[in-house]
Amino acid sequence: MGDEKFIFKEEPEAASLTVVKQSKTKAKGKLLSVDDDESYQQSLLYSLNDFVANGEVDEILTANSATEAAALIATNEEIAVILLDVVMEEDDAGLRLVETIRNVQGNSLVRIVLLTGQPGAAPRKDVMEQYDIDEYWNKSEIDYDILKAVVGSNLRSWRSMYQLEQARLGLQLVIDASRKLASKYDKESFIQVVLNEVASLIGVGKNVPTLCVTTQSPEDTFDKSYVLAYTGSDHVQVGEPLPNHLFDKFTDLYEQAIIDHRHKFNGNLSVLCFPYDHEESGHYFILAEGLEQLSEYSIHLLQVFGENISSGFMKIALINQLSNLAYLDAELLIYNQNWLLRELQTMNHADRINTQLVVISIDNFDSQTLTFSERAMVQVINNTYEKIANLYHEVLGISRIEASTFAILCNSDEAIDDDVLVQFTNQINEFDGEMRNYSLTIVKVELADMLTSTPMQILYLSKSLLYSARQKGRDFVTYNPAYQERLLTDYQLLNDLKNAIVEHEFYLVLQPKVDLRTGQPVGLEALLRWKKNDEVIPPNVFIPIAENSGIITKLDLIALELTIEAIKALKQKGYQLPISFNATVKDLYESSYLALIENAIGIEHISPELLDLEITETQAMDSYDKVNPILEHLHDLHVHISIDDFGTGYSSLAHISKLAADTIKIDKTFITNLRDDEANQQVVELVLNLAHLCGFSVVAEGIETEEERDALLSKGCNIGQGYLYAKPMRLDELMEWLKSHQPQAVTD
Ligand code: C2E
Ligand code: MG
Ligand code: MG
Repeated sequence: MGDEKFIFKEEPEAASLTVVKQSKTKAKGKLLSVDDDESYQQSLLYSLNDFVANGEVDEILTANSATEAAALIATNEEIAVILLDVVMEEDDAGLRLVETIRNVQGNSLVRIVLLTGQPGAAPRKDVMEQYDIDEYWNKSEIDYDILKAVVGSNLRSWRSMYQLEQARLGLQLVIDASRKLASKYDKESFIQVVLNEVASLIGVGKNVPTLCVTTQSPEDTFDKSYVLAYTGSDHVQVGEPLPNHLFDKFTDLYEQAIIDHRHKFNGNLSVLCFPYDHEESGHYFILAEGLEQLSEYSIHLLQVFGENISSGFMKIALINQLSNLAYLDAELLIYNQNWLLRELQTMNHADRINTQLVVISIDNFDSQTLTFSERAMVQVINNTYEKIANLYHEVLGISRIEASTFAILCNSDEAIDDDVLVQFTNQINEFDGEMRNYSLTIVKVELADMLTSTPMQILYLSKSLLYSARQKGRDFVTYNPAYQERLLTDYQLLNDLKNAIVEHEFYLVLQPKVDLRTGQPVGLEALLRWKKNDEVIPPNVFIPIAENSGIITKLDLIALELTIEAIKALKQKGYQLPISFNATVKDLYESSYLALIENAIGIEHISPELLDLEITETQAMDSYDKVNPILEHLHDLHVHISIDDFGTGYSSLAHISKLAADTIKIDKTFITNLRDDEANQQVVELVLNLAHLCGFSVVAEGIETEEERDALLSKGCNIGQGYLYAKPMRLDELMEWLKSHQPQAVTD
């Protein structure tokens, strides 16, 4: 990792200057003589004394019975060679002791030299092999020189076997410790494991402090370091600077370590140093104080383990970097949606009760990106974020969960007032040199209302609330639990709806449009019905669900096919009535939908004047640039176009005048109680004037009373539909109705 000063690869000769050469692996070993013949044993000892005198063995132990010997061997780890009399308390006492040493005590290292006073009583060769015994001597044969040679060679074998065994155990320790390290991914628990494992590697006793310390940056001095983790009994506080007595004790060794960038050992003190992740640019040091001087062997183990610690720190630094990448928005360098989900995940019940989630989204961002420069849109995002950050000083976090949507987590006590949020929905920003207004939609959710929801559910609920707020044209909404229930019902209904498409559960009803002066039908509107089991579901329940889930065109294709069938059926009975059918913008973007209309005209020879496509004012105007050319195309084919629910949207005059339409349908809300409602009268008059100006005919929707009809007639509106004349009917009912209501040619 970036810091070139720290190179640990050449460790083997490291620290040698400070190492005190007292080694556990250079154990000399002890000799044990086991013999019930004490005089013989004395003469043996006399000869063996040289080994002690020359410093070749630590000690010579004696035992006069197999039992006594077994106890000695069990308590003396470093017995290297046993000179063992075969015949003692019993004839085979010596051999049974061998069996105990190897099989019961599990000591495979100790070298055993068998001695016997009875010539010809040699143990069997297979027994010698089984118990790993190389030497068998007749006491009478053995003299001083032979004894020295035999003991000397066995001592050497024991030492190399002992060293190998120690190395194996040490490596096992390092491997076990490293394995524990590998499972830790956060700094704190990693350091704690390092500390515990270092303590066990160097055999630090419980009363001896072992510390882990870090300095904040390479420039900082030792006195700036603080304790990250700690084992031992000294009173040391994690997070605090090193206490004075330890500071004094370790300063010199620490200075050497920092100069050489190496682990340092001196007597019973060790300073291990490790590079830190370069982002935070500091170093870790482990300061350890052992009970006794560290052996060269322990130092070696520490150095090997040190390699693993170093790579562990690097791994954690990498993981931290990855986690930064995973939880940050690359453009704004603020939190992203993953962060939000993680925060929601880690919140406990009490946190949730006291937390508010606010989602703020820029309206029409996608369509604006087509109109304005990329630079302008980046600026809108940045400025919006800054405004949000100014509004919310004290928050848990602001995250960007979609290109133009932010989510804020804050304490409910510090929540911003609704009035302020409502005001905040109106913003102003420079768009390519021009100051323009733009709007935000804000959704507020108290997490206390979502205690059992998963983070994903909270996120999706908030997003769907945002979506539905937009659809309803509301700029500020607060979540209420009934919403979630409705979502669930909608979800169930959507599944049923998909199934209904496969099962053909739809049929059409037709509502006459009449000449208000005569009551004679001039056309029909086709309205879709869903027969779900025995229940008839009205379109204002299933159409919005179909629109939101993208399956609306499938339904509208069905409605259009049934409309074409109805036109043919009516024609067969001699009726030439135009039928209007409801479409959405999505249908118009679908080639199969347009193809169905074109085929009906071209292949089935349906007169295009009998086809009347209705699209709502809101949809036609919102997507004017894209939709109007398609409407023009249909218009050119002589398909009739009606603008439905007129008056409920906000049309620009410039667009209305150029709209490729024939008819405007005034929404029912303006017809209701028309005779007494002045505001409605004004709207109706306005629409009639506008239609006259642009050359559209007008149909009034939802006429229920004669007063409404008379009011319309008095204003010059001559065509309408409503329960006053007829409810929507099935085709066979309509045929009956038509018998008493003779159609007339349309005139308005
Ligand atoms: P819309 O196109 O404005 O249809 C007029 C609605 O007003 C129909 O409701 C009709 O039954 C109702 N209506 C007619 N006269 C009266 C009246 O005098 N009083 C009252 N209270 N209501 C009256 P419906 O059939 O429930 O349809 C509701 C809406 O569902 C339709 O409004 C239309 O937007 C949509 N819709 C219906 N069928 C389809 C379809 O096949 N495709 C699409 N995309 N939307 C459809
Ligand atoms: Mg309609
Ligand atoms: Mg309508």
